[in-house]
Amino acid sequence: MGEILELAERAWQGELRETQVAPGNAVVGFEELAPGLGFMSAFSNVAAFATDEGLVFLDTSSFFHAKRLHEEIRAWSDAPIHTAVYTHGHVDHVFGLGPFEEEARQKGQPRTRVLAHEACPERFERYVLTNGYNAVINQRQFGFPEPVFPKKYRQPDETIGGDHTIVVGSTTFELRHDKGETDDHLWIWIPSERTIYTGDLFIWASPNCGNPQKAQRFPREWAVALRKMQALGAETLLPGHGPPILGRNRVNQALDESASLLETIVEQTLAMMNEGARLDDILHSVEIPQALLERPYLRPSYDDPRFIVRNLWRLYGGWYDGNPAHLNPARDADLAQEIASLVGGAEALAKRAEALAADDRLDLACHLAEWAVQAAPEDKNAQGIRATIFKTRAKAETSLMAKGIYRAAARD
Ligand SMILES: [Zn+2]
Repeated sequence: MGEILELAERAWQGELRETQVAPGNAVVGFEELAPGLGFMSAFSNVAAFATDEGLVFLDTSSFFHAKRLHEEIRAWSDAPIHTAVYTHGHVDHVFGLGPFEEEARQKGQPRTRVLAHEACPERFERYVLTNGYNAVINQRQFGFPEPVFPKKYRQPDETIGGDHTIVVGSTTFELRHDKGETDDHLWIWIPSERTIYTGDLFIWASPNCGNPQKAQRFPREWAVALRKMQALGAETLLPGHGPPILGRNRVNQALDESASLLETIVEQTLAMMNEGARLDDILHSVEIPQALLERPYLRPSYDDPRFIVRNLWRLYGGWYDGNPAHLNPARDADLAQEIASLVGGAEALAKRAEALAADDRLDLACHLAEWAVQAAPEDKNAQGIRATIFKTRAKAETSLMAKGIYRAAARD
């Protein structure tokens, strides 16, 4: 058993602590899982299938691991890359082809055919349009030293609107489209291997389906995709991040429980929306099944399942949260000043924030500390208290998304 399969067993037993879905945490390595099936664990993963016509890549990984991917693949096979499928247009999945394409140019070999969903090029367009925003929020999310985000993309050569089957050599790849993490998501069923490549519909963490700083996600459709995968009775699940899952029972359990987690959040949220509840009530009422979050593949280490409620509100509702004061609100700083003058100044707010934090009410403490600094932006003491409270909040959270935002707030 090689490094990746060993990792797979340790992950299933719950021995991997860190989320694999972050650039610095992914275990980087390559292993041939079955004859002609290479698997690169990285940020993100790549599944490579050797066919009579050349290699087929499912995903291509990111610029972080492009060089390593090339080295590992070339130590395994010298065949050209016939086809590459982007499971979706996130930048950690579409930047690994560069070294292979350069090599093919030098050797005069045909260009790789890149396949993606038809919404993928529109995603790349949005990334150009919102380049600065994406640079800023990814810096905040991952704690990068610099705000950087790519402006040029290797476009797909062919796009597909729905399900689509391709045959390369004698291997059949059934490309299936379902919305989930993105609107352009594909997952792939390889019947001859009884293998599913899930893309980011499975990532060894609670589904990244609420992400506070990213575009719309699709919790209900995501659960549907997982149920479709489950119905296939696969023997191997290759995820977009983290190690494979081997064995029919394990694959079934992981897909079933991931779908169940999403389904209960969707059902509870929709039921309350349909009763006319405010977002605030829904956020504090939806119950997330804690037993599921303890599964090694559903830990809330990357995204926070509570954020999924907001994504559903955004998907099915409007931006109005039901609190009329929020419709055309006063400036945050004006409200903070009103509150500060009522309680005897920003200092009183900051002091109360400290007391609440000491009393384990970090949620309330954050509001008061933020008000204190908004009311008195030059007050060094209030700034210090606010920074400490957000640092403490970051430590108390489990998800990288929440930690990133609170850490950035502490640094402000
Ligand atoms: Zn990814």
